Amino acid sequence: MTAIRVHDFAEPETPVASAPPSHRDALLGTYKRAPMQFVRGAGVEMFDADGRAYLDFASGIAVNALGYGDPGVEQAIRDAMSTGLIHVSNLYHTAPGAALAERLCDLSGFASHAFFCNSGAEANEGAFKFVRRWARESGHPERVEILGLRGGFHGRLFASLAATDRPGYRAPFRPLAGGVSVAERDIAELRAALVSGTVGAVIVEPVQGEGGVRVLEPEFLRDLRALTREHGVMLIVDEIQTGLGRTGHVFAYQASGIEPDLVTLAKPLAAGLPMGAILVTDEIARTIQSGDHGTTFGGGPLVASVALHVVGRLSDPVMLKHVRQNGEWLGDALRQIGERCDRVRAVRGAGYMWGIDVHEKAAAVVLRALASGLMILTAGEHTLRLLPPLVMTQADLARGVASLEDALGCRAV
Ligand SMILES: *Cc1c(COP(=O)(O)O)cnc(C)c1O
Repeated sequence: MTAIRVHDFAEPETPVASAPPSHRDALLGTYKRAPMQFVRGAGVEMFDADGRAYLDFASGIAVNALGYGDPGVEQAIRDAMSTGLIHVSNLYHTAPGAALAERLCDLSGFASHAFFCNSGAEANEGAFKFVRRWARESGHPERVEILGLRGGFHGRLFASLAATDRPGYRAPFRPLAGGVSVAERDIAELRAALVSGTVGAVIVEPVQGEGGVRVLEPEFLRDLRALTREHGVMLIVDEIQTGLGRTGHVFAYQASGIEPDLVTLAKPLAAGLPMGAILVTDEIARTIQSGDHGTTFGGGPLVASVALHVVGRLSDPVMLKHVRQNGEWLGDALRQIGERCDRVRAVRGAGYMWGIDVHEKAAAVVLRALASGLMILTAGEHTLRLLPPLVMTQADLARGVASLEDALGCRAV
């Protein structure tokens, strides 16, 4: 029997700074994580436990649009906390959620009502339910089907996963929710699908984020809108990644001039506090009754107060113009790299959302970028994805582009 030494007991009280964090092994392995541990953020940079700075071209996957340490976010949290009410439940009224619903509906140009939830997948699942409720209430009980598009991503719960075009995410979890499937990104094929009369809604991302930063042409969106109207089918626009300024518009669909029937939001909405939203037309709102849907946490006073600040900042015309102008500069800079470097196959995007197709594994470029202090993302096996905080200046964008050029192996010699 081994003797128990005194320092075995003393150790937990005197942690060594360089010791690996003990919580890591207890986290379920659903993510492949980079080795560094982040302990601090400021402006558009994050810092690891060794004090190394990383320029952020990822925004915590399109969440941290205002970067790190935004004084307005901090103030909104303090003000909300000073009331003592983090959560109230949806059995009573609170002012921040009501004000946020009104603000988002006004900005949308089409919606009359909002429902708040706690994530993107949850927003899409709720939207699917609202469509089915509308279909039955409006005398079309056969319109139960939801169609996603080739290349689309809508979340990882059972129905949102069924609308997501990622065989690797889907296959291990079949059977997925019934009546939800993926259709080709092609107007003629969609027309054929809608003729059946059993489709209730089509869900699209104006720019397919996870699916490779594929920009849907405004003409395609307009044709799809006309087609869905012609067949009495609802159009759900998933703005979870593209919404709230990411493409230089409050909502990306506004660039093509269409009006959806439902819009889902999440990622940047409450500055990293978990929050999603579903915006709906009056036609749909009129078919929803008490008890049709619910959530314990959704739209509580703390998250809604923070979201009010975020929405105010991200819908400011000055902010949107900054994203459009600098986004154009960023796109030009990336295309120039693509023109002179054969390691880059294609560049696509809008605003502060760009994809770069590469020949090698995108994950390898991400690791080289990290090693040089730049955080970027992938969007599929051979596509890099850039999602800088929307507050990033052109000087910082240029700094990131230079690091990226190195990581790509494209630096001019
Ligand atoms: C991230 C994302 C989702 C899922 O959001 P979660 O909060 O992770 O559930 C859905 N749709 C799109 C377009 C997304 O980018």
